[in-house]
Amino acid sequence: MAKTIFAKIIDREIPAKIVHEDDLCLAFHDVAPRAPMHILIVPKKPIARLADATAEDRTVLGHMMLTAAKIARDQGYGDAYRLVVNNGEGAGQTVFHLHIHILGGRPFTWPPG
Ligand code: AMP
Repeated sequence: MAKTIFAKIIDREIPAKIVHEDDLCLAFHDVAPRAPMHILIVPKKPIARLADATAEDRTVLGHMMLTAAKIARDQGYGDAYRLVVNNGEGAGQTVFHLHIHILGGRPFTWPPG
């Protein structure tokens, strides 16, 4: 399968503004931010969609949630932020490497559009 743009960022084949890296995940600024803070956190393992994750991915998924909270805190938005996972084309997913959007710094409506 062709390498996704996020796999290329993980492998440093294309640049990104990286804010966090560890053995399980990478986080970097979204290239087209939809909020003052718009960071993406991705697993290093190439899971295409949340729907493709399995029980063996529970550690990395939990780690990503906790790391997202830490990143929001470190960026100064710890009290109000939104995490979004678009799963599948019908839900707006455009890059098929699982990612959590970490958004903050503006009001958010509910339900999301
Ligand atoms: P989604 O629509 O949920 O799949 O989100 C994909 C996100 O990836 C969008 O918010 C894009 O702006 C972002 N994106 C696409 N290419 C890049 C890139 N090269 N670096 C950083 N973010 C990107």
